[in-house]
Amino acid sequence: MEAGGKFTVLVIDDEKANLMVLNRILSPDYTVLTARSSEEGLSRIAGEKPDLILLDIIMPGMNGFELLKTLKASPDTRSIPVIIITGLDNESDEEKGFMLGAVDYITKPFRNAIVIARVRTHLQIVNQIRMIERLGLVDPLTDISNRRCFDERIAVEWRRAQRDKMPIAFIMMDVDRFKTYNDTYGHPQGDVLLKCLARIFAAAARRPGDLAVRLGGEEFGVLMPETDLKGALEVAEEIRAGVEAARIPTVDRRTITSVTISIGVVALVPDEHAVMAEFITRADELLYAAKEGGRNRVCSDPAGSASPTG
Ligand code: GH3
Ligand code: MG
Ligand code: MG
Repeated sequence: MEAGGKFTVLVIDDEKANLMVLNRILSPDYTVLTARSSEEGLSRIAGEKPDLILLDIIMPGMNGFELLKTLKASPDTRSIPVIIITGLDNESDEEKGFMLGAVDYITKPFRNAIVIARVRTHLQIVNQIRMIERLGLVDPLTDISNRRCFDERIAVEWRRAQRDKMPIAFIMMDVDRFKTYNDTYGHPQGDVLLKCLARIFAAAARRPGDLAVRLGGEEFGVLMPETDLKGALEVAEEIRAGVEAARIPTVDRRTITSVTISIGVVALVPDEHAVMAEFITRADELLYAAKEGGRNRVCSDPAGSASPTG
């Protein structure tokens, strides 16, 4: 970002007409740089550190997929979000783009308003990630996001899900009988346990938009944009089983400890009337149901139920 607070967007496309259109629609809000090949793009990235890249795939010389791979391999450029904008519209190309680390995929011919909206969304996320870094929105014990970070992120993702009519999922978790664990092994060992659990949760939040959060105390969450109930349940079960299987040594390495967690899962495509607070409350209720049901389990509403609160 330059001094005036404007984000810099780099557009890489071998077709001059595309560069001109994208430049025209984005330049009212952003500083727009253009490059007509991957090679030229690479040198502009090194020199000007763009905040976001719009990338064509089919280009003479190095193609867009290769460039994306190169960017993700380098610590200097890895965190720059890349939106693919291409004439390739089959699902396997889209999948390949996401596998290589693109944050979004737009097919040509594109609608200007869609490009503007998606660029805006991803720059909002960039902004938030920087805020996390600036304001320390990270939980000091576990090194994952804290509640405040979560509140800000879910507000943006909720609006995005409403606008794009995409599902959003939230996994809420609480350590089972943690008081007993603390009483048995001591509070410092309780902290060790929370750190180990946070690593399991962070590893499960593996897509670029996913967010693992310590909501407070021994309560955690994973926010998963663009994820339906089926996908969220898979991740939740993976987490539950992972925690159950984890063997956590005590600080003096004399004892191996184990623990379980209970999980509530919600997912929906929020319409314009959907209330975010109810979505979170429902996750909490389902978590409570998991406790009631005997702990060490995942609870959700049946798939296809009209509303998470219904
Ligand atoms: P349940 O299965 O119903 O969740 O039982 P529980 O014992 O986990 O629940 P309860 O809410 O009774 O106890 C939570 C405990 O978590 C009490 C509190 O001391 C402990 N705790 C909260 N934050 C921390 C922390 O940062 N470190 C440690 N070591 N313990 C914590
Ligand atoms: Mg609790
Ligand atoms: Mg608990």
